[in-house]
Amino acid sequence: MASIFTKIIQGEIPSYKVAEDKNYYAFLDINPNAKGHTLVIPKKEVDKLFDLDTETYAGLMQFSYKVSKALEKTVTCNRVGMSVVGLEVPHAHVHLIPINRVSDINFTSKKLSMQHDDFVKLAKEIASNFEA
Ligand code: AMP
Repeated sequence: MASIFTKIIQGEIPSYKVAEDKNYYAFLDINPNAKGHTLVIPKKEVDKLFDLDTETYAGLMQFSYKVSKALEKTVTCNRVGMSVVGLEVPHAHVHLIPINRVSDINFTSKKLSMQHDDFVKLAKEIASNFEA
């Protein structure tokens, strides 16, 4: 069965897209640790990040690099942190999180509450700062 992230890529499930190319897709995490929390995924569905073929893995890092630049331009933060968990969704992904303190990247900390309109506006801003 297709993962929830494959369904997002295919448009079966909505997402707040910030960037996309032939092989990768980036969108806002629906339950963000901090403002701008973005997930970057390969379109190829593989569960574990380190089971990706090296070409897809390297491409994912390159694409994440570009997304991080757009995040830095959009969200005021000390830096963009990167994390890999994967315990919830079995489709390889990296979390890019604009952080100011370590608790911003701690997945057990309280989540940020955002409304639909806030997600739409933020995704648009990040997308407009994304350079392919
Ligand atoms: P993990 O697999 O543990 O790295 O966590 C999966 C992440 O995906 C969590 O931070 C969820 O909030 C996020 N997530 C799950 N479903 C969606 C969705 N439909 N749209 C955006 N983010 C999602």
